[in-house]
Amino acid sequence: MAQCNNCKHNWSWSYSFKKLFTFKDEVYCPSCKSAQYVSKKARNHMSMVAMVPMLICFLLITFSVPPNVVIVIELIGYILVSLSLPYFYKLSNEKEYFF
Ligand SMILES: [Zn+2]
Repeated sequence: MAQCNNCKHNWSWSYSFKKLFTFKDEVYCPSCKSAQYVSKKARNHMSMVAMVPMLICFLLITFSVPPNVVIVIELIGYILVSLSLPYFYKLSNEKEYFF
């Protein structure tokens, strides 16, 4: 889970979850109000995790699972992924770029 690099405050799951879906680089610590940035590593991990349901979908299609079943599994997969993303949320004091 995310921890502030400034005051070492551990962010709650719900706060991290909310911040995840604002899609902003800059997020503010609820405790010390300092600007924090999502670390490069965390972004990489989260994008990998987000791809898991897609891979499962390809597998299911390969094994000729009916499309309505695939859709239901996909929906559940994406919900589970969204709920687990705050656990991969890590912060950094400085803005890190992809390249
Ligand atoms: Zn803080």
